[in-house]
Amino acid sequence: MLSTTIVHVCLCCGSQRIRKNGHADNGAQRAKCLECASTFILQPKGACYDQKFKDQVVAAYQDRMSIRGITCTFGVCYKTVLRWGEKRPASRPLWTRCRALKTATCSN
Ligand SMILES: [Zn+2]
Repeated sequence: MLSTTIVHVCLCCGSQRIRKNGHADNGAQRAKCLECASTFILQPKGACYDQKFKDQVVAAYQDRMSIRGITCTFGVCYKTVLRWGEKRPASRPLWTRCRALKTATCSN
């Protein structure tokens, strides 16, 4: 039999003098440091959105879909949409798309 021991330390001061302190809203175990009295989640979950979903949301944002529309369609907070949109530059600048539209309009 193989067993693993996990030693939790305070995220603020690094002390091992911590104790359980209830649960978070998502059911995760919370802890409280007895040295500095800070509270934290013992094993926080990572990002819950996969990269494909993020790419879809950012693509909608870059296609000038409204923030409210993205929020309703994808169920993501508007602040998250803005944060994801800021991290990635637009694949094509807006003036390039406008020029392509003008060219398409003029050729007809
Ligand atoms: Zn501490």
